[in-house]
Amino acid sequence: MSPESPPLIDIADAWKVYHLGEVQVPAVRGASLRVMPGEFVAITGPSGSGKSTFMHLLGCLDRLSSGTYRFEERPIHQLSKLELARLRNQRIGFVFQSFNLLSRTTIVDNVALPLLYQGIKKRERRRRACEMLERLGLGDRLRHHSNQLSGGQQQRVAIARALVTQPAMLLADEPTGNLDTKTSHEIMTLFQALNRDDGITIVLVTHEVDIAGYARRHVAFRDGLIVQDVMQATAA
Ligand code: ADP
Repeated sequence: MSPESPPLIDIADAWKVYHLGEVQVPAVRGASLRVMPGEFVAITGPSGSGKSTFMHLLGCLDRLSSGTYRFEERPIHQLSKLELARLRNQRIGFVFQSFNLLSRTTIVDNVALPLLYQGIKKRERRRRACEMLERLGLGDRLRHHSNQLSGGQQQRVAIARALVTQPAMLLADEPTGNLDTKTSHEIMTLFQALNRDDGITIVLVTHEVDIAGYARRHVAFRDGLIVQDVMQATAA
């Protein structure tokens, strides 16, 4: 990316305050971050430091209490609920710890689902889903139901589902949290390849240092604040 290209994420002085009855919980306290297209960023920090809250803000799943957020230069803090839902479906791919697949549905139909909301015809939805699953090494499992697969395979299906809409960014929240060590590293190697070879922007939330080691840039949270933002040599 040329230095002149606009940032994908430009969030400035972001605050998120939860209200629990009379009590106010400031989960994010004035965080600012810019992410350029093609970056691979790990957001780290101890439990309770505000990582998940910040990730929800980045993913347009929640609104800022104050501050500004521009995603692909669009002022997210000014969009309606419906506009945010459309933007999430079209521009952001989500991967979670718990895979969130429909268990008695074939993996092709799981992956094709986000395209349904875009009004794409069935045959084309299935074509794109098969193509993405083949790219992620699951071409021989297309007719399997997701509950017939191992954890690592299920997370690959979830990644295929996140990528099938060709989003601008992949947001992954503790994506290896339910996987054993070997499978975790296979999944992180896959993320690395998607970033390096396909230029996919990835923002990953993790509390595990060795998982963060796959990302080039490390952003550390503590007590709702970004306390460190550094470039690192990557693992593997
Ligand atoms: P992390 O992901 O780093 O563990 P979180 O973003 O989940 O941190 O939490 C940051 C702080 O905000 C914590 O004190 C947590 O208890 C609080 N918090 C998170 N979500 C909510 C919520 N929905 N309502 C009230 N407080 C919350």
